[in-house]
Amino acid sequence: MENHNVTKLQIDLNAARFNLDYFKGKLQKNTKILVVVKAFGYGSDAIKIAKSIQDSVDYFAVAYTDEGIALRKAGINTPILVLHPQIANLELIVENCLEPNLYSFSILNAFLAVTNAQKLTDYPIHIKFNTGLNRLGFKADEVSTITKKIRKNKFVKVASIFSHLAASEDKNERDFSIQQITLFEKIAIDFEQKIGYKPTLHLCNTSGIINYPQAHYDMVRLGIGLYGFGNDENETSKLKNVIALKSVISQIHTIKKGESIGYNRAFIADKEVKTATIPIGHADGISRKFGNEVGYVTINNQKALIIGNVCMDMIMVAISNIDCNEGDEVVIFDSQQTVEKLAKDTNTISYELITAISQRVKREVFH
Ligand SMILES: *Cc1c(COP(=O)(O)O)cnc(C)c1O
Repeated sequence: MENHNVTKLQIDLNAARFNLDYFKGKLQKNTKILVVVKAFGYGSDAIKIAKSIQDSVDYFAVAYTDEGIALRKAGINTPILVLHPQIANLELIVENCLEPNLYSFSILNAFLAVTNAQKLTDYPIHIKFNTGLNRLGFKADEVSTITKKIRKNKFVKVASIFSHLAASEDKNERDFSIQQITLFEKIAIDFEQKIGYKPTLHLCNTSGIINYPQAHYDMVRLGIGLYGFGNDENETSKLKNVIALKSVISQIHTIKKGESIGYNRAFIADKEVKTATIPIGHADGISRKFGNEVGYVTINNQKALIIGNVCMDMIMVAISNIDCNEGDEVVIFDSQQTVEKLAKDTNTISYELITAISQRVKREVFH
């Protein structure tokens, strides 16, 4: 029998499809779309998300090789770009028809050795350039060395060249982003000339799609936008919410004046208070930063502040003024606006909050 009385992350696949169409509406007809489903689909369910949109996207991307293998095992046949494949996994990449991002000479050489040993032809690879993020990527002056190596063999074919913007959401960094765009275009022209064909060009993540339409090129990489976050209030308001985190009240206590609540006795009641214990804690992704009245949940449409410290598996919330019972539903978030507020109040960003929802939390998918 299914136990419904648990903490769950609800995932609305219709909303994800709506958001995909919204971003597609911003693209030129020929611009392809890659959807990023790394980190379990930004904390949701990468396989369910990928299955529901695979017919409407050109590519998926994941961070690590095993994330790509999981998609292949689930029957996803769409091309998959692995953004950070790592040298130890290059054979697995080929075995699972995954396409590696090659960002340095050590990984490029290692992959050329693998494709050479296996006598592959035209295996699709993706070359990443560093245009200012200083995370992964070749430098602009390395183009001729790369193209010389690749032109000499038939084992691989450059499917795309790409780069990543450092501050695409930040209007104050517009000059820097334009500088990255200009540098990327210079690299692309140089690369195409030296390799003798035209790889797919892509640069923009979600906020790049929104803020830099001149840099959509042949493809864009949609990540957080699919999950309902547009990186500014106005864009987010046009998107549908994909994920909602809900739980239930396990137990209600009446705490007398002078009693304490939770570990380290972090909360001492200065008058009688009613509390509800909720089965979700820092092991589920509710950071300890939410404790001591920073974070809140919603019960019967009313805000209940988290009091005392967040435990591993539970939180206690103040419900003195809320009419509720054990077993009642508790909403941690069910809108992007709440996620943004909770993220802001705990000094982080929506990305961190949603990807932190641990695998222990049941996923409930709506089609
Ligand atoms: C994660 C990631 C993306 C997606 O970014 P969003 O801001 O979530 O749209 C795109 N490109 C690269 C290289 C990434 O690592």
